[in-house]
Amino acid sequence: MPQGTLVEVKLRNRVVRGVILESVDEPSFACEAISQILPESFTQIYLEIFHFISQYYLCSVGEAAGLFTPVVTTEAVPHANTACDIALSARQQEAYRFVKSHDVSLLFGDTGSGKTEIYMKLLEDVIGEGKRAIFLMPEISLTPQMQKRLKQKFGDLVAIWHSKITKKRKTEILSAIGSGAVKIVAGARSSLFVAMPDLGAIIVDEEHDDSYKASNRPRYHARDLAIYMGKKVGARVVLGSATPALTSYYKFPFFRLKETFFDTKKSITFLHEEEGISERIRDALSQTLAQNHQAIIFLPTRANYKYLTCMACGKFVECPFCAVGMSIHNERNALRCHYCNYMQRIPKECPACGSAALKSNRIGTAQVVAELSEKFPDKVFMKFDRDEVTTQTKLKKILKAFNDHEIDVLVGTQMLSKGHDYHDVRLAVIFGIDTILAQADFRARERAMSLLLQVAGRSGRKGEGKVLVQTANAEFFEHYIGDYEHFLKDELTFREGLYPPFKKLMKFMIAHKSRQKALEILERLQGCLGSVEDVEVVGFGEAPIARIAGKFRFQVLLRADSAKALLQVAHRCRQQDCEVDIDPVSFS
Ligand SMILES: [Zn+2]
Ligand SMILES: [Zn+2]
Repeated sequence: MPQGTLVEVKLRNRVVRGVILESVDEPSFACEAISQILPESFTQIYLEIFHFISQYYLCSVGEAAGLFTPVVTTEAVPHANTACDIALSARQQEAYRFVKSHDVSLLFGDTGSGKTEIYMKLLEDVIGEGKRAIFLMPEISLTPQMQKRLKQKFGDLVAIWHSKITKKRKTEILSAIGSGAVKIVAGARSSLFVAMPDLGAIIVDEEHDDSYKASNRPRYHARDLAIYMGKKVGARVVLGSATPALTSYYKFPFFRLKETFFDTKKSITFLHEEEGISERIRDALSQTLAQNHQAIIFLPTRANYKYLTCMACGKFVECPFCAVGMSIHNERNALRCHYCNYMQRIPKECPACGSAALKSNRIGTAQVVAELSEKFPDKVFMKFDRDEVTTQTKLKKILKAFNDHEIDVLVGTQMLSKGHDYHDVRLAVIFGIDTILAQADFRARERAMSLLLQVAGRSGRKGEGKVLVQTANAEFFEHYIGDYEHFLKDELTFREGLYPPFKKLMKFMIAHKSRQKALEILERLQGCLGSVEDVEVVGFGEAPIARIAGKFRFQVLLRADSAKALLQVAHRCRQQDCEVDIDPVSFS
């Protein structure tokens, strides 16, 4: 049987799928016979990709293969010609020629500079060559607007793919890819794993977005994997962002596309005030709303407040299962843990000392909506966070209502910043950017700066726009706000010799119900690490969040010049109840 063939095997009462990796003589242990040979198969190149993922992201070959969906090709792909109706400006033409002349390149284009037209032109070319393409975007950017643009241009040649589409729809799409009826798969990071034959291009939009990194094993990064796969299968890879990741900016040839589409006049004001809705913010909001324009308000915190703190002993109410404060959700009269979802009633007294002097702090989206709805009773405020936007349908509904002016103000978390096109937003208010800047993470500055620009970019896309930022670090933000590239250049000097892109990082993460057991694993790990060369232990000990869902957590962070050195250590020192994360993006 050829390598890569899919088969079914009965294991106990279950039928499981498998991939033929190689043929061997019958082993001495008990074996099950293959019950069915399926029509699908993976090519040799894909088998190599599985092995790479298994080695690099430390999982089994089976786990790697399990990410992918095979396609059965039923016909030779007919060439498809779509109407060449994309008009590019002179500068866009230049950008287009640039990405066409590189295998991997970065389209570093401001919000509103017209990256989408260039993507469309590239997709049109790929189809014209009789090839296929994958268009990746963060799940939350999979908005009706982007889908509409793709559908308008490519009709049924494009299929939208994400983790929540039904099995039936998936089967339909896969057969349409096989017959050549579908040539572009567009969607969230899982689209990368549709094993498209004759792949000509992979586009990664919003390439800086951390949601491309999987938070469970295999902990792959879809952008990095797209680059690897592109090389393997001979497909062009185009990364796009207004605020590219420092690593992408450093590693790949880029084309700078500045905002030209709309002549926007933006003003940014930094407010050195304490947290909360100040008079200046209220006035600005009042002015914008009086003219029937819209506003967005960003906060990094969900719920009403992040903490319930005791004024007597200074402790905040912690989740009994996690070493984190519980958030206040007034609509349910509950404290809720955002890590394990444990809920309890809001206590009247401090559980630690019994004092009744409890105070809530770190304002969240729900509270801002509640307070502003009271101040502006004839305006509609809507939460835009993970509590509110739980499905794609809800996301579409809220965005539609906002663009139809049924909602005046969106109050949201990072979700606000993700590539949505708001037509009439004239004011963006940004709270809590300092808490992002203060995170114990080598990318804290990059995160904060990029987030600020992404949110600010949503205001005034077709006219005048105002941005208010509440921060004690105005100097830092002011210095770079007009020039993200300047920021990236400075950040490079700061990272030299310490962090990516100059060094590679890897993290061991231990989690165990018994603290004693967790410490033993840490000890064994340290024993193993004591003898390694070319790898530096940056830090080890309790994780910043020392317990989640009843498990005690410890971490070891390693640094080396090459991934190879780290991977050797990973394969040699791996332990039970200890996950390995290469190129980590989260350090909590
Ligand atoms: Zn207390
Ligand atoms: Zn919890």
